[in-house]
Amino acid sequence: MIFNTFIGLKLKKIITQISVFIASITIFFLLIDKNSDKNDKNIEDSEIIYNKNEFNDKLIKKRVRQTAPVIKIKVKSGDTLEKILINSGFENEEIVKLIKETKKKFDPKNLIIGKEITIKYQETDKKSVNSIFIPLEFNKNFYLQKIDNKYVAEISSKKTQIRLVRKKGFISDSLYLSGLRAGVNNKAINEMISIFSFSVDFQRDIWRNDNFEIFYEEEFIKYEKSRKNLGKILFASLDLQSLGSLKLFRFESEKGGIEFFDENGKSAKKLLMKTPIDGARLSSGFGMRKHPILGYNVKHRGVDFAAPTGTPIYAAGDGIIEKKGWNGAYGKYIRIRHANNFKTAYAHLSKFNKLPSGRVKQGKIIGFVGTTGRSTGPHLHYEILKNGKRINPQKLKLPSGRKLKGQELQSFIEQKNVIYRKMDNLGVY
Ligand SMILES: [Zn+2]
Repeated sequence: MIFNTFIGLKLKKIITQISVFIASITIFFLLIDKNSDKNDKNIEDSEIIYNKNEFNDKLIKKRVRQTAPVIKIKVKSGDTLEKILINSGFENEEIVKLIKETKKKFDPKNLIIGKEITIKYQETDKKSVNSIFIPLEFNKNFYLQKIDNKYVAEISSKKTQIRLVRKKGFISDSLYLSGLRAGVNNKAINEMISIFSFSVDFQRDIWRNDNFEIFYEEEFIKYEKSRKNLGKILFASLDLQSLGSLKLFRFESEKGGIEFFDENGKSAKKLLMKTPIDGARLSSGFGMRKHPILGYNVKHRGVDFAAPTGTPIYAAGDGIIEKKGWNGAYGKYIRIRHANNFKTAYAHLSKFNKLPSGRVKQGKIIGFVGTTGRSTGPHLHYEILKNGKRINPQKLKLPSGRKLKGQELQSFIEQKNVIYRKMDNLGVY
């Protein structure tokens, strides 16, 4: 009985609670319904009125804009904004003002070939610019607009995102072409070649079926994945039959410098470069390295890099240009004096690069490939001299560059491990 009463009480309590709950919910929904009803009506009503006026207004404005004449011009080599405006028939006085305003944001001579410039203008008594739109590098656009008879220029940039790219492959002809075929960004391969140019002779040390790997960041604009920008190269490796396995890791020091080091913290940079030329433009190395005139022999005393006329030639190391000019069978010739009694010489150039003084920095362009002097085709003849004697660059043991120590080595190892972890997480595409 006590038990029954207890249950009865509990049930009563529960039923009361449920009915209160249901009642409040019903009231709540009724209220909401009423409210939303009201709101809907309001929106509908106001929307109709609002639409009518605003829509027509906008349409009228749009019509004016649409009838405003537009010039679209694809930038050709040698074009400047000034040239384009003159050719489009705008008045000189206006062009001067436009160029002056443009210069506040960017150099109107630096247009990108192939991009399309849009000029909107009006033609009342004279032809006058309303706005100019110029696509710039990657995610940036230039926009100039006439507001209250004054020109206002601005540069806008679209938000970008970063993705990691890891690619591996065999070399079937050159690193450059094999990299492109593997889908590596062309700027990334160029950079990879240049960081390996200190220790690798890209004409003789790369053989068929050697391996490469590269890991880098790529910046892109959301929904516009075709527009890409090369970010950081984090890791690059070459597995060569001639030189073995070479791995290089990016290292950002606390001072903000960026350099590449091998697994043990030795700098990729050496006193002299083994490939003092744009390695991406070398003719395929295979077979070439067996060619007597292109290899090294006692009579030849140098190495040859076969590349198209005009390919840039770099100073192999820091130094002072001690000879520059015509030198008999060598044709147009440059010789640079470096530290440690080293000298390097470059022959058969098509032309010299204009340089401010006798001192050059490693990697600076000193001239261009040609076939001047006693030469059968465009190539660079490269000599290394030690204590005045020509030596075989292929056999040269160069003093190694900087080696990381202490705290720097510690932070390099940390960065290297982060790179390895990122690579593990990503796998290979
Ligand atoms: Zn030669």
